[in-house]
Amino acid sequence: MPPPLRTFAIIAVLSLSFAARAAAHDIDPAELVTTPAVSQARRIILARQRRDPSRLFAVAPDAAPAEPPPPAPPQSQAFTPFADKLKLRWDDQFLYIDSSGLPDHRMMVGITAWQQQVPLPQPYTGDNAWRVPLHPVPAANPLSAKTHFFRGAIAIAANGVPIFNPIKNDGRTDTFLAGELDEFGGHAGRADDYHYHTAPVHLQALVGKGQPIAYALDGYPIYGLAEPDGSPVGNLDAFNGHADAAGNYHYHASKTYPYLNGGFHGEVVERGGQVDPQPHASPVRPDTRPLRGAKVTGFVSPKPGSYSLTYDVRGEKRSINYSIEPDGTCRFEFIDARSNARTETYRRRD
Ligand SMILES: [Zn+2]
Ligand SMILES: [Zn+2]
Repeated sequence: MPPPLRTFAIIAVLSLSFAARAAAHDIDPAELVTTPAVSQARRIILARQRRDPSRLFAVAPDAAPAEPPPPAPPQSQAFTPFADKLKLRWDDQFLYIDSSGLPDHRMMVGITAWQQQVPLPQPYTGDNAWRVPLHPVPAANPLSAKTHFFRGAIAIAANGVPIFNPIKNDGRTDTFLAGELDEFGGHAGRADDYHYHTAPVHLQALVGKGQPIAYALDGYPIYGLAEPDGSPVGNLDAFNGHADAAGNYHYHASKTYPYLNGGFHGEVVERGGQVDPQPHASPVRPDTRPLRGAKVTGFVSPKPGSYSLTYDVRGEKRSINYSIEPDGTCRFEFIDARSNARTETYRRRD
């Protein structure tokens, strides 16, 4: 160890030792073993204590100052009301959003065409985080969501919930008109991954007026049912977008198709029918089948990680109680109209 580092190491050890012992009694530095480096460290500590006792625990005087992080990009602002459950990071190219994919609001209630999937938290973190390009680039050949992107997300909502194409993966069914969506425009997919298929206009009240409610995965913002200044939405192109007076392009929500960005004005890479790259959901169980005549009527989370969904099949009341343990174990309890229970247990495979 070179001498300055050795001195620093000894300061660190001595500082801890001083701290531990200071609680018991006043220390006489002379009690400590002495080498030239220890003496030097002791002199530095005592000098610091004399100057400012609160600096007793301060770290190395010659530690290299850390590179200041780049300032938060303006795109992060729409996500900050949800900062307690999202983790935001950025570099000079992207804003990264770590999320479980679950909203704070009630889920699933109102679905009348149900595949028996339920919402489970997803590991959209680290390398599997959502990302918003900070410098969107208009595409040479903008791609329509009427003919592309039937798989995966096309946008990320301000609360960290992904938004899929309103047309489902058969390429023709409007999920909203088909009764597949809950009262907030979402449902659980084949990996028990919750996502919206329409614009989450309910987020406007949470993000505040003038803020976008989502970002399309090409990096352009999606505003709600009004312009950022509160005025009525002007003329929109086929993708529900337009440029503002300053020439900045953005999309809008709408109450009818396309509901949100109807394609990508900006550059994205399409691979396997979806925007690439994008995070993937992690299923814990095989996907389930549509259940004819089922209506989801209730959903509660009695405690974190524990959920109960109730549904009605032609007058029969049934429920699914399920929980996810810290070790990733998922337990499902299926209760029929006669209160008979059947259980299934799965482990998350990552
Ligand atoms: Zn879906
Ligand atoms: Zn606008």
